[in-house]
Parts: sequence; C-alpha cells; structure tokens
Amino acid sequence: MTGADEPRFACDAMCGGLARWLRMIGYDATYQADIEDAVLVEHAQAEGRVLISADGRLFERRAITSGEVRALRLPRGLKRIGQIEWVVHAMRLTVKTPRCTACNGTLSPARRDEVQHVVPARSLVWASEFYQCQSCGKAFWNGTHWGRMQKVRDRLAELVRSEHPERPADY
Ligand SMILES: [Zn+2]
Repeated sequence: MTGADEPRFACDAMCGGLARWLRMIGYDATYQADIEDAVLVEHAQAEGRVLISADGRLFERRAITSGEVRALRLPRGLKRIGQIEWVVHAMRLTVKTPRCTACNGTLSPARRDEVQHVVPARSLVWASEFYQCQSCGKAFWNGTHWGRMQKVRDRLAELVRSEHPERPADY
C-alpha cells in the first residue's frame, strides 16, 4: 500500500489545514500560503500531484479541463473535518504512518536520547513514543498534540473501515 501508486496532493492557498491533516494520515501534501494559481497548477503538473481546491476559477484552467492535471474540487462550506473526510472518501485513502505536519517530511521512530534536545524535559519523562522528521528535525511524541492527532486518525480509520470493510487495514 505504499510507493508510487499512492496519490500525492497539492493543496491550494486556502487549504493549509487540510494539507496538514492529509500529512497526519500519511499522505504527501504540499501547501504554500501565497502561491499563485498558475504556479500551483504547474507545480501539481510537474510533480504529478492531485490538486485540491474549492476555488471554481482554478478549474477553468486548461491544464485541468484537459485532464493533464488531476484536480479535486472541494465542496464549499465544509469544515476541516468535513474536507478531510470528503477527500478520504473521494480518493479512497487509508490511514497510514503520519508525515511531518509542519513540513511534509517523513517521520521515523526515534529513541528518547535522540530527541532530548528538541523535546521539553517534562515531556521527555512521561512520553513513551517519539518520532522525528527526517527533513526539518521536528519531534513528535505521544503528548497532548499527538492525542488530538490520534483522534482524527481514529475517526478517519473508522470511516475507511465502514466504507471499505474488505480492505486490509494499514492501521
Ligand atoms: Zn518536518
């Protein structure tokens, strides 16, 4: 279930929250707050990413109408949880090992002593699982932030199971 077949995403300037949540369930999702539409479309095309936007004008661009760039049009007015559920459903995504929510890098399990310089001392004592981003070095551990993330992951995993009971679970 990993590798070249997995969709990768390019989220538009309004979808930063969605990009972070896609990373949270393990998908490669780019996002840049001030990116221009033309640059975004080129970026998606160059890297073979599925563009995600709720902006109707974007879908009038030739690269998208011609099908050269695959694009998902988010229904307007969805809250973030609704957006991620919608994308999970539309793209038949599963819940995989999280990526770095800050930079989209790959997370690797880390030992306590490997992250002691970036994790607050208090958390170092009681947290039991640590991960570190291979790109930006940011550390993640099973603390409060992780708990919120786990809730979203659990909810989406449940959605995947209810929609595709036949699927082997990655998670
Ligand atoms: Zn990172």
